[in-house]
Amino acid sequence: MIQHLQDTITLNNGLQMPGMGLGVFQVENDATAEMVKNAIEVGYRSIDTAAIYGNEVGVGEGINLALASTNLRREDLFITSKVWNDGLSYDDTIAAYEESLQKLGLEYLDLYLIHWPGKDKYAESWRALEDLYEQGKIKAIGVCNFTIAHLENLLSFARIKPVVNQVEFHPHLQQVELRTFCYKHQIHLEAWAPLMQGGLLEDDTIAQIATKYGKSIAQVILRWDVQNGVITIPKSVRRERMLQNADIFDFHLTDEEMAIINLMNLEQRVGPNPDEFDFAL
Ligand code: NDP
Repeated sequence: MIQHLQDTITLNNGLQMPGMGLGVFQVENDATAEMVKNAIEVGYRSIDTAAIYGNEVGVGEGINLALASTNLRREDLFITSKVWNDGLSYDDTIAAYEESLQKLGLEYLDLYLIHWPGKDKYAESWRALEDLYEQGKIKAIGVCNFTIAHLENLLSFARIKPVVNQVEFHPHLQQVELRTFCYKHQIHLEAWAPLMQGGLLEDDTIAQIATKYGKSIAQVILRWDVQNGVITIPKSVRRERMLQNADIFDFHLTDEEMAIINLMNLEQRVGPNPDEFDFAL
């Protein structure tokens, strides 16, 4: 279990990935540079963006600002982006990767993910990711929003296993079977919307636990992620909340408290269900 914001977990290809990072979904490009710079300055080393977020340019600018204001080097950071649903042919995926690199102003990504499975379209896209990985252009490749059925299919033909499956994960959507499946196949689960996009931040049950430790509800949820061994990437544009979200390593939820939160699962999503999402583009 990670003990610090910058602690890493070992992915199935041996790469070290910070167990906690910053998400930048729904942040305007113009606001992203300052956000990313702040995050790196307060200690975040992992940034999660995507082509569809429209803020890769801002992420790249933020990285440059942070590298200029600290002693950090590019290789101290872990940068993730994702190929969108309109780029799932082999050629389109290669082109999308090059475009993301260009927008970010980077020479490589640490992690590149297929954003949504897109029914059966991901096979070609995965082959492109495998080739980019084997050419040394990406440090690790993975998927998002894959169900067990998608993963079983992918594993039946993949030359390279995904290192992570980034899925919606929070106390109201605990992905119990998927988590077990991923664990068995050494695929790390990564939580998107760990705070349910703000929807869990007034929850009475978690509030009681938070009061005991003098912590916020957000901190208890993120601590629950960490104790579950799930990589987590909460998003905040505010420096004080970035700090708050990372200040979760000085308390430990008891087995009983973990069990109380485990009982909160409602199979409730804030995002689309990967089996029902309309991929027609
Ligand atoms: P989160 O669950 O991280 O919630 C973000 C919201 O919570 C924002 O409104 C933020 O507001 C607020 N917030 C953050 N910290 C606190 C705090 N300590 N106290 C009170 N409010 C807080 O939602 P996201 O959807 O952003 O998920 C995280 C990341 O996951 C994304 O940014 C993205 O990188 C990734 N993601 C991936 C998806 C995929 O399909 N692969 C889909 C969706 C997200 P404020 O910014 O104002 O502080």
